[in-house]
Amino acid sequence: MRIALLSRNRRLYSTRRLVEAAQARGHKVRVIDVLRCYMNIQPGKPEIWYGDKRLGPYDAVIPRIGASVTFYGTAVVRQFEMQGVYTVNESVAITRARDKLRALQLLAREGVGLPRTAFAHSPDDTRGVMQLVGGAPMVIKLVEGTQGAGVVLAETQTAASSVIEAFRGLDAYFLVQEFVGEAQGRDVRCLVVGDEVVAAMQRTAKSGEFRSNLHRGGSAQPVELTPVERRTALRAAKTLGLNVAGVDLLRSASGPMVMEVNSSPGLEGIEAASGIDIATRIIEFIERTAKPGKTKTRGK
Ligand code: ADP
Ligand code: GLU
Repeated sequence: MRIALLSRNRRLYSTRRLVEAAQARGHKVRVIDVLRCYMNIQPGKPEIWYGDKRLGPYDAVIPRIGASVTFYGTAVVRQFEMQGVYTVNESVAITRARDKLRALQLLAREGVGLPRTAFAHSPDDTRGVMQLVGGAPMVIKLVEGTQGAGVVLAETQTAASSVIEAFRGLDAYFLVQEFVGEAQGRDVRCLVVGDEVVAAMQRTAKSGEFRSNLHRGGSAQPVELTPVERRTALRAAKTLGLNVAGVDLLRSASGPMVMEVNSSPGLEGIEAASGIDIATRIIEFIERTAKPGKTKTRGK
């Protein structure tokens, strides 16, 4: 197969691993900087240009779209979809997962376990949203944040009000969530490929920190998933329409709660912690499923 790997940096661990795995299985793979793709939007003949050449044809696209380039990145993925090119995660699914509020709304509709979450526009409703999640302690998150930046634990109502006021001053969208204290600074990352959770790891926050992100100094350990956790991760990925996803769960007293679903999950921490060659699993999945004209949503 000819595979286009959309990534801004070929030196990133996940990009390198996917290239290696694709080549080892006999595929031709090209790393393409999504921000250097330009598009010819014309009736009946959607084109993507790169430098002075037209791109393609490709049998499959692997989108690794960073949070800061979601808007343009998903437009490029959509343009491939317009050409009928198979993409392992479709543009609409990436967009759904990137918007935390939209993702949580969809997951809630499917009855997937979530921390109590509330959202408001008007500062006049700050007290109302705090009440909906059961009061302090609570977690306040920027809707567009990643890697734990913009996630704040407010121990008291007063602290929560100050954080909310500050976020409003930045004109940023945020959500208010019940703090799941029994998770004890740990979460579980499940790596979903197709209909399977192929690997998982537990992340533990460094001491004095409640966020377990590796980027915030957390550490990763192997973990055994329960059948319910496995099912929850698969349902979350399926609900958003993602074939490849990193599903983050909190182990709460009332069962697994999904915190977020990542459409470009990093492979480094989880391959190391689990010892599983996830890159090869992704390539094998593409071999089984990639067919021209198979994209379901076509950007709609
Ligand atoms: P990001 O997308 O920026 O990583 P998350 O929503 O995943 O943001 O939050 C970062 C980390 O903070 C999580 O990995 C988890 O350890 C912790 N955390 C987030 N929400 C909660 C919550 N409601 N209760 C307890 N811990 C939480
Ligand atoms: N981008 C990484 C991922 O989604 C973040 C990992 C982390 O900070 O824990 O896998």
